[in-house]
Amino acid sequence: MVRRWADYKTEAWVQWCPGCGDFGILAAIHRALAELDIDPRRLVVVGGIGCSSRSVYYVRGSNVHVIHGRSIPVASGVKLANPELEVVVVGGDGDLLGIGGGHFTALGRRNIDLTILLFDNSVYGLTKGQAGPTLPVGVKTKALPYPNVQDRVNPLILAYASGYTFIARGYAYHVNQLKDLIKAGIEHRGSAFIDILQPCPTYNDMMTKEWYEERIYYLNEEDPLWDPRIRGPEDHVKIPRIVEKMLEFGDRIPLGILYQDLTKTTLEDRFEQQMPGYRKAPPALRPISVNGRAPVHPFKVFKDKLIET
Ligand code: SF4
Repeated sequence: MVRRWADYKTEAWVQWCPGCGDFGILAAIHRALAELDIDPRRLVVVGGIGCSSRSVYYVRGSNVHVIHGRSIPVASGVKLANPELEVVVVGGDGDLLGIGGGHFTALGRRNIDLTILLFDNSVYGLTKGQAGPTLPVGVKTKALPYPNVQDRVNPLILAYASGYTFIARGYAYHVNQLKDLIKAGIEHRGSAFIDILQPCPTYNDMMTKEWYEERIYYLNEEDPLWDPRIRGPEDHVKIPRIVEKMLEFGDRIPLGILYQDLTKTTLEDRFEQQMPGYRKAPPALRPISVNGRAPVHPFKVFKDKLIET
């Protein structure tokens, strides 16, 4: 059966403001899933709280809408319980980098095979436009009484320092290019992070469509030899240039794949080494009871393997 992007749409009424960048991101997600031909029965989209997290209702899958900032631990649990599932996290910068910031860094250390899509609009849109973690210092959006007194976190550098093995940046209104980045992130084996610049026309009147479009450029168009893949120690010479591009955010903002480490094992690989048979019979696929008793308690499988939740 050949799936079309419309097969990934749901009947739910899409509740975003007219012109919101989220529409472009949603279209790119539908198209990426169709081109990868992912079975919706094998797909789990996990979202926290925010306009972006409503995407869990707009993509066909076995999706989960969780509390603020906790999408990454829930997605990690789903993936580790059944590594055969395709698990994608959707969230805004407030959800993933503010209240969920600790979980964001913990995922990089673990390198679980998840894809994180950050709808990055620099404001808390759902709660009327307070400054989000990626809003630069000194910027006064229309919802703020004074210019922002805190500086922005750089999500790409944070992801790199945390250990993510795939890091990219896309733009919400460039649906085709974004679709390709999402496909590459899903296909990557390990924790993939895609920072998606997403204008919020309702509350962020500074970082608008026009503001972004004056600044963004594609790394592979500027430099046809751009290759951020790390295949071994010999590629470490690329790191200074990669970090320089991750730091660039101002008059020019690079888009595309910024980093991909193909050398690191995933947490699932490490579980398999320590618990042979884990992949064949992960907790979600084990019988939950034999003669009324649990043969293997699901939590025992992970006992002592993870310190934090
Ligand atoms: Fe989109 Fe902003 Fe409206 Fe939320 S508040 S739906 S981010 S335009």
